[in-house]
Amino acid sequence: KVELIDVSKSYDKKTEVITNINVTIEPGEFFVLVGPSGCGKSTMLRMIAGLEDITAGVLKIGDEEVNNLPPSKRNISMVFQNYALYPHLSVEENIVFGLHVKKIPKAERKARCEETAKMLGLSDYLKRKPRELSGGQRQRVALARAIVNQAPICLMDEPLSNLDAKLRAHMRSEIRQIQRKLGITMIYVTHDQVEAMTMGDRIMILHDGKIQQIGKPIDIYNNPANPFVATFIGSPP
Ligand code: ATP
Ligand code: MG
Repeated sequence: KVELIDVSKSYDKKTEVITNINVTIEPGEFFVLVGPSGCGKSTMLRMIAGLEDITAGVLKIGDEEVNNLPPSKRNISMVFQNYALYPHLSVEENIVFGLHVKKIPKAERKARCEETAKMLGLSDYLKRKPRELSGGQRQRVALARAIVNQAPICLMDEPLSNLDAKLRAHMRSEIRQIQRKLGITMIYVTHDQVEAMTMGDRIMILHDGKIQQIGKPIDIYNNPANPFVATFIGSPP
């Protein structure tokens, strides 16, 4: 599980961008973090990944406090908002890059790459460079690169924001299927209410760095905690 206890974050002394977050994300859960632009979603993911310091509070993974544990030791994989593929490497090299760093032997790298590529429909594209792919294919490479690590926790920051509506809908269900199949814990960021409502086991609505509500999509829809949530989710009055 991933547990945040009274977690706050300021980039400078004056302004707090995350305020007193308390939440426990259960193993195997698909947890969606949703809220308007600038509300602190990426900041929260980056703190969980260890890419940003936590100003106050405690972050636990399992039962261990990890506030000062470097990202490489957290056993978390992350898909970034802009894919962050390496343009000079082939699809295959992009996918296995992290395995290389972890000194996984070549035969196993190849096997895992092929298995992951198959799962994401990338088997025919392994020798191409990212610039020779469509947006949706690039997106799959970014997903493959995260999944191939077989980390028990996966973070995704608006991974579908650059895709057209049809591909987005397709990828939503694909990501959910893969997450179920692998049984990983997913923390998924989006600013899209529909995506949050259709994908999340539970969703957390964030506004100005503060939790507005946490719950199952249907419960939030039926019982919004405040007018902000009601408007954001589009609950009936
Ligand atoms: P979006 O949906 O646009 O990606 P977000 O919810 O991910 O937004 P964050 O990127 O977490 O929002 O930013 C939250 C707040 O923190 C914003 O006001 C932003 O300007 C500020 N912020 C983010 N990164 C930094 C930084 N490195 N230094 C200072 N302020 C920052
Ligand atoms: Mg963001």
